[in-house]
Amino acid sequence: MSTRVAPAAAVRFDVDAVRRDFPILARRIRGKPLVYLDNAATSQKPRAVIEATERYYTEQNANIHRAVHFLSEQASALYEGAREKVAGYLGVADARQLVFVRGATEGINLVASSWGRTHLLPGDEVVVSAMEHHANIVPWQLICAERGAKLRVIPMDRRGELLLEDAQRLIGPRTRMVALTQVSNSLGTINPVEDIIAMAHARGALVLVDGAQAAPHGPVRVDELGCDFYAVSGHKMFGPTGVGVLFGRAELLDAMPPYQGGGDMIRSVSFAKTTFAPIPGKFEAGTPDIAGVVGLGAAVDYLRALNWEAVAAHEAELLAAATEQICDIPGVTPIGTAAHKAPVLSFVMDGVHAHDIGTIVDQEGVAVRTGHHCTQPVMEFFGVSATTRASFALYNTMGDVDALLAAVRKVRAVFG
Ligand code: PMP
Repeated sequence: MSTRVAPAAAVRFDVDAVRRDFPILARRIRGKPLVYLDNAATSQKPRAVIEATERYYTEQNANIHRAVHFLSEQASALYEGAREKVAGYLGVADARQLVFVRGATEGINLVASSWGRTHLLPGDEVVVSAMEHHANIVPWQLICAERGAKLRVIPMDRRGELLLEDAQRLIGPRTRMVALTQVSNSLGTINPVEDIIAMAHARGALVLVDGAQAAPHGPVRVDELGCDFYAVSGHKMFGPTGVGVLFGRAELLDAMPPYQGGGDMIRSVSFAKTTFAPIPGKFEAGTPDIAGVVGLGAAVDYLRALNWEAVAAHEAELLAAATEQICDIPGVTPIGTAAHKAPVLSFVMDGVHAHDIGTIVDQEGVAVRTGHHCTQPVMEFFGVSATTRASFALYNTMGDVDALLAAVRKVRAVFG
């Protein structure tokens, strides 16, 4: 994703045309047009993805890699073709470095488990940030406990920006891994991952970037970033649920032991000795979510055809308008006010629980998320139990912003 935002007027973005690609957006909810602002939880799917999945099951279904019959060869080609497409979107030249997994969660668990078990020694340190999703905390806690390693945390300030001087200090000679989100799901902060990668590499540590919230907002340049691992979830980037991608540098993946054993990940098996398939097969045991992978291939085809300068300007306009207006509502405080943000607006309202806000705005057809967003340490830091989060995607409109604001004003009126 780009952190630079083009001037709004520079390129026109035809949001109505994009909306027509997403059939669910035409739905009415409780008699009102759907205003879908829960994109950070999962995005909606364009017709191209739905049709690719349907076509797969209608015409192309077969198990991959293990047969010479036509359908199996076709399914294998679709599956491997999707890997190439995803490589293009993620900016990875060598597609062998991409492992299909269930989602960002499984990608991170794979690294924590396989790399962590073989590389972490007692006294070693894993550094995460204060704004990580539980998916980028708990796997590291588990492996640190198993290996006698320590988890350390880069702190943030009240705007939700990481304290880079503290990061510089924390990432030290015992740091083996820095695991960091590129974009915070609950605050929207876009982190300076390049700076932190440089700090980590200068001290000989590896870096895993959690790209779950970055990849939906534009093509990523993983090779250019120079991180060692990068994890995404297909369902947040307009693809199907149940499929995600882990990037790992080839020499690291080559040296790591398998995460799971089973069919498809072996070169040869005997009771005396098993040898493993080359990457990425070594990490793809069993029958994968073939239809999901094919659908994800269609999603990245769709995404790669967009003008991302225009999308970025559009999303920035939505965020700016929503943030400005929400602050005018009495008793409303935004949570997460970093200078560089993805289009995520979290807020709290004096005297009103987030779940009540969510329930009332839902009556207006507005879908937002309320709760801790799987970032309980973030909630604790800000001293709140929950926030209401509106997260925008490329298909949202200024009309959606207006509907959100009108619904939140209604909540204010109900609670006085
Ligand atoms: N990391 C971040 C930043 C996320 O927002 C999420 C999903 N909310 C995840 C990881 C986990 O993704 P998934 O549940 O798709 O595995």
